[in-house]
Amino acid sequence: MIEKFQEWYQNRHDFARRWKEENPDGKVVGYFCTYVPEEILYAANILPVRILGGHEPPALATPHVFDMWCPFCRDCLSQGLAGKYDYLDGVMIAQSCLHVRQAFGAWQVHVPTPWSYYLCMPNAVRSPRSRPFFAGELADFKKAVEDWAGKPITDEDLDRGIDILNTNRRLMKQVYELRKEENPPITGTEAMTMVWASQLVDKREHSLLVEELLRDLPNRKLDRDPGVRLMIVGSENDDRPFMEMVESIGGTFVIDDHCTGSRYFWDEVVPNENRIQAIADRYCDRVPCPTKDFGQEDWERKRFPHILNLARDYRVQGAVLIQQKFCDPHECDIPSLRRYLEGNGIPCYFLEFEVTVPVGQFRIRVEAFIEQITAEELFE
Ligand code: SF4
Repeated sequence: MIEKFQEWYQNRHDFARRWKEENPDGKVVGYFCTYVPEEILYAANILPVRILGGHEPPALATPHVFDMWCPFCRDCLSQGLAGKYDYLDGVMIAQSCLHVRQAFGAWQVHVPTPWSYYLCMPNAVRSPRSRPFFAGELADFKKAVEDWAGKPITDEDLDRGIDILNTNRRLMKQVYELRKEENPPITGTEAMTMVWASQLVDKREHSLLVEELLRDLPNRKLDRDPGVRLMIVGSENDDRPFMEMVESIGGTFVIDDHCTGSRYFWDEVVPNENRIQAIADRYCDRVPCPTKDFGQEDWERKRFPHILNLARDYRVQGAVLIQQKFCDPHECDIPSLRRYLEGNGIPCYFLEFEVTVPVGQFRIRVEAFIEQITAEELFE
């Protein structure tokens, strides 16, 4: 099962291409950012595929987006400009940060894609007005999808879309639950590869594989010392070589907080007669990324306590905080997060990521962090 997730991730365009051959009337929509309500796309029998970078120097993006812009966004755009996503029927975004919006805007102009949609997702999700506002935006979005697909989306369709997403979320959370064990039966790299794959293929097929994995995991014993229990937190991260490197030098990532990890699937849609409102509530209430977790003084921040709870639940000994270079949302968030976690007894180490990370140099730095945690615990 693990190899299958890896194959889906590695050959990420193959699934959607094959899906289109098998569903000649079906449409594939590439999406930027995990605030896109995939429930509505599944309700319309559209396959959503997350646009990810290729970890290749994003030279093609240079004329369109500043080089001092998020490398992940430049990499995504560069992949589009290189024609890697030429099978997409549509592309969309839900508002999050300005970097990804810039990449989306350049994509609309320079990457031929028949349909595109900008979804106005509020940033001040703690405001009491955000939920009704977003429900209105989702109603408009549903109408636009209906017009494009040429058929109405019924309540039954929405129920199906919600169920597909919720089932997948629930199953992946069960896999994450097993990572609380003393010797987790799945590494952090493997667990995150499962999540990356879920953003690239039909979730119904993905869920079947996760169910199979869940039957297998209780009997799986990894022939490795888990070493120091680490958490990884921050910007977009699908850097498999980095994750593998850390897990080969005495650490195990037992939990994460990334939009390519737990933040993506942690919360389900709570059923409600008004399906659109239920979906809107889920995206306003989900574990937020830093672009959404701010507001007036009396609006309680959700992100930091959630991360601390994860650290405690998964008995984390140290946190690796990563940021894509020039990613303002995380750059502004990390100093306070670091103070908050360290103040609560979780040692932290910060690393700045690029499209390709210097694995050798990072190895020395993470090794030192792991040694420091081990030494401090010995002397406690
Ligand atoms: S990594 Fe940061 S700058 Fe890039 S898309 Fe994500 S939040 Fe935006």
